[in-house]
Amino acid sequence: MTELAYLPDVPSGYVRAFRARVVALPPGGVVLDRTYFYPGGGGQPPDRGRIRSGAVEWEVVDTGRSGPAVVHRLRRRGPAAAPLTLGSEVEGEIDWARRYRHMRLHTGQHLLSARVFARTGLRTAKAILSGSSASLDLEGELPVPVIAELERDLRDALEHPHPVTIRHVPRAEWDAQSFAPRSGLVPLAPQVDPVRVVEIEAEDACPCGGTHLRSTGEIGPVLLAAPTALVGGGSRLSFRLKEPDAPTPLE
Ligand SMILES: [Zn+2]
Repeated sequence: MTELAYLPDVPSGYVRAFRARVVALPPGGVVLDRTYFYPGGGGQPPDRGRIRSGAVEWEVVDTGRSGPAVVHRLRRRGPAAAPLTLGSEVEGEIDWARRYRHMRLHTGQHLLSARVFARTGLRTAKAILSGSSASLDLEGELPVPVIAELERDLRDALEHPHPVTIRHVPRAEWDAQSFAPRSGLVPLAPQVDPVRVVEIEAEDACPCGGTHLRSTGEIGPVLLAAPTALVGGGSRLSFRLKEPDAPTPLE
């Protein structure tokens, strides 16, 4: 069992380095008692980074769930040295430039899904983040003139940032509110309780397990592409970060 240390609140998603204890050593990987590495899911790719034990360093080439555990897949850097041992303490460090891009894309996706829903009533069936771009699969056709309105909405959210918060809501309470309009189309699995609700103030409240920014101001300028039709119905709306390597503002 790995404690998912990035889950409790938005600031936990900004932790880049941490100490943890080795609890299992599956072939080619390591399981820690706690981790800030995101194991992938909801369209957000898994984290990469480094794990150190004393002077020995491993590259984390992939992170994934295995039941209740998170497995960090390792490749050793530098000369051969003593392997990791059960119970030892290690230091983990996330590839922050990559993860921060994912946080900007992910928060941008929530905002864009909310704005598309507000302007057209179309919900997002699926979102995929990759590199410095993201795509939203919408349940219907997006009218082309809406694109200019969405671009304006995104600019507004940069100039007048909305704070982003995370709440953990009992399932019964969430279900009681589910009559409220929602931008997401994917139903919540029955065993999810409590529900981790990611809220962009005055815009959107959406159940999600990913990592997000503390403010829409950090998304930065984005470029929307013309929507394309999907085979089998619906449309895909994509955007990319104009400044993929923008630094994280001081905390
Ligand atoms: Zn999310």
